[in-house]
Amino acid sequence: MMRMIEIIDKKRRGEAHTKAEIDWLVETLMAGVIPDYQLSAWLMAVCCRGLDLDETTWLTDAYVRSGSVLDLSSIDGVVVDKHSTGGVGDKTTLVLIPLLAAAGVNVVKLSGRGLGYTGGTVDKLEAIAGFQVALENQALIDQIKRIGVAISSQTKDLAPADGLIYALRDVTATVQSIPLIAASVVSKKIATGAKVIVLDIKYGSGAFMQTLEDARALAETCREIGRRLNRVISTVISGMDQPLGFAIGHTLEVVETIETLKGKGPADLEKLSLVLGAVALVGAGVCDNLKNAEERLLLHLHNGSALKKFEELLAAQHGDVGILSDPTRMPQAKALLDIPASQSGYIATVDAMTIAKAAKILGAGRSTKADVLDLGVGVVLHKKVGDKVTAGETLCTLYASAQGVEEAKILASQAFTYGDNLPTNPALVEQIDL
Ligand code: URA
Repeated sequence: MMRMIEIIDKKRRGEAHTKAEIDWLVETLMAGVIPDYQLSAWLMAVCCRGLDLDETTWLTDAYVRSGSVLDLSSIDGVVVDKHSTGGVGDKTTLVLIPLLAAAGVNVVKLSGRGLGYTGGTVDKLEAIAGFQVALENQALIDQIKRIGVAISSQTKDLAPADGLIYALRDVTATVQSIPLIAASVVSKKIATGAKVIVLDIKYGSGAFMQTLEDARALAETCREIGRRLNRVISTVISGMDQPLGFAIGHTLEVVETIETLKGKGPADLEKLSLVLGAVALVGAGVCDNLKNAEERLLLHLHNGSALKKFEELLAAQHGDVGILSDPTRMPQAKALLDIPASQSGYIATVDAMTIAKAAKILGAGRSTKADVLDLGVGVVLHKKVGDKVTAGETLCTLYASAQGVEEAKILASQAFTYGDNLPTNPALVEQIDL
């Protein structure tokens, strides 16, 4: 007979759990009989004392077994899945999924909503009128068979124990734990059923992992759990000190996605999409090296096939394909406000977290799950790190509607710092492990 108080005490003392203890904890949680205060105490003990690789693997496996695993075996060919640990202006999923499908691999993507400062792909898709974000499992599988790609909101029956624990971590300051993040991310990826999994692990001011060292530890933990649970997990570590691309906010990010699929997107967004896509193509055995894979993907960006696949994806999920030629059909902000440079020089930093806060205050982010987003608002950057500016030149434009303009103005100008010399550009892709 196990008791939660003893499990909490064991972790508080820094001892390792047994597999039986982890299994008991997750099963008892699913039975609804662990009070939140005890679970919270255990989560805090884990944050402070950690979990070793055995414990983290057992926790991941127990999360997976708490629900069902999507059975993709009826789909011909390899199915790949990509996940990002979350960033500011990160719309690579929207670029990547049609791009990979155009390049001939199947893609399954279950995405979440944004909470806090990082955007959720499902919210971005809701800027597209009619787009059906909740697909039943069978509909998802049928659509992948038909057009090679489907995207849906995370269903409750995939790794539900993670869902319960994540909700509590979010309100008890226990998100920041490498083993808890690894178990959470990897369990959802395993439950989604794809055999090839690519993780984009972000680090920097706008990411969960603030340092490169932590990002490396998270990447290594995720890959090792994958090995132990028979999944190929590749990781890309990418920088998130400044936002990715220029657009932050839902409609604005869909517009930038369309431009990128036309081969006219921001260089950093295009590059990261190509790198992540290339890792997926090599993992799927479609290409034998990253260089060939990137070239193949670039071709699909420039010959219109990735955009065509995006149109097919929109049509399959009842989204308004008219946005491809007329993006003003998506929710729009009521007012545009330019933020000027306060001095001349080189842009030294564009702090991702501060820009995310500005976008959130304008209505693009949630403080609680119940908050309703304003899909038209956000920030468009005109200058990024290394750009030269003269005082008075526009640094970014706020897309505003009803709320937060004065506060967002202050934050947006604070996000930029200046220097006299050209700064070294922050690394976009820091490390790739196939
Ligand atoms: N994303 C997840 O899915 N889980 C975490 O714990 C952190 C980021």
